Amino acid sequence: MLRIGITGGIGSGKSIVARLFAALGVPVYDSDSRAKGIMATDLGLREQLLAAFGAETYTPEGLLNRTHLAQRVFGEAAQVALLNSLVHPRVGADFEAWVAAQAAAGQPYILKEAALLYESGAYRQLDRIITVFAPPAVRHTRVLRRDAHRSAADVEAIMRQQLSDEEKLERADYVVYNDDSQLVLPQVLALDEAFRMG
Ligand code: ADP
Repeated sequence: MLRIGITGGIGSGKSIVARLFAALGVPVYDSDSRAKGIMATDLGLREQLLAAFGAETYTPEGLLNRTHLAQRVFGEAAQVALLNSLVHPRVGADFEAWVAAQAAAGQPYILKEAALLYESGAYRQLDRIITVFAPPAVRHTRVLRRDAHRSAADVEAIMRQQLSDEEKLERADYVVYNDDSQLVLPQVLALDEAFRMG
């Protein structure tokens, strides 16, 4: 069973493209939401996060306090690395278990969606990578429209932390252009057909 990664800078449209694959019946692993779930439920991880980032990392009700965590790590490379070193191995293990279940169900291929596929090392668990491309100015506009809680400066800071488009394009096996230069659905259908053939 082929394992395909799908990535792209914030606002590139990778979630939308992943949803198109899902509509074709392809199982999609959403790394962000799975990571959130794991941080909420994995008790060993909870203890490590509390020790590393303080008691406020979880609310009195026991929910993950993402605002606190984001503030603790934002712009601090060593703190980001620490957080990633705690969370990523668990997401990796969760992904492997999920993949095994999909393979047992006879799926021809699966998709893993992640903003930081290269940065996290997750690309090593994948056979091929799709990068969704849109130029930074377009992504910027889309994110401001989508995320009421983010300022222009927030979006720029996030974009600076991500791998450059040039590097993502160079490392990608496939590119889906979501920059209004061509239709997206035909690109997705062509890739789906290729992946089903193996
Ligand atoms: P990502 O997951 O890469 O951050 P999304 O898939 O959430 O990006 O897309 C970012 C925003 O831009 C969403 O609100 C989405 O609806 C919008 N969007 C994505 N692609 C297009 C497009 N081709 N035209 C207009 N809006 C788009």
